[in-house]
Amino acid sequence: MSVRKIIYEGDPALRKRCHAVTAFTKRTAGLMDDLKETLIHAEGAGLAAPQIGILRRACVIMRDDEIVELINPEIIKQSDEQEGLFEGCLSCPDMRGYLERSKEVTVRAQDRNGEWFEFECSGIAARAACHEIDHLDGVLFIDKVEHIYTEAELDELLAQLEEESEDDDKDKKEKDK
Ligand code: ZN
Repeated sequence: MSVRKIIYEGDPALRKRCHAVTAFTKRTAGLMDDLKETLIHAEGAGLAAPQIGILRRACVIMRDDEIVELINPEIIKQSDEQEGLFEGCLSCPDMRGYLERSKEVTVRAQDRNGEWFEFECSGIAARAACHEIDHLDGVLFIDKVEHIYTEAELDELLAQLEEESEDDDKDKKEKDK
């Protein structure tokens, strides 16, 4: 296993449609291990093979504390309910945009042994699944965002979120009393 170099926006590899994984070999397992290790190292929510320069339909996403491996993934169901949040990408450092995505999605994918499974996720994991599957088609979040935040807007937004979570803590403490 090794931490691979993540490529950045502007690299043509990020704009290619990736090929399906057809052989489930030691090499496939090695790719999945490298994706996992690189994701942990980068502290991201998800990572797709093209982001380390491998044009294959494979990605990893964080769901709670576990990393889920998705090979040849497809979204087979998504909720109509949308959630707007700010989103970023390890290949577009320092950029955050506002983007609505389905709150819940079901993904069909293969594991490293080629076994198909269905995977349901919501919230940040659902967002990560949609984001990573877009990468496999050469699509970046900056193509879809309604708005890219400036540094000042982002600072303000983060301060606001922090304040809200402090208020939540206060509410909780009030309730505990
Ligand atoms: Zn990304």
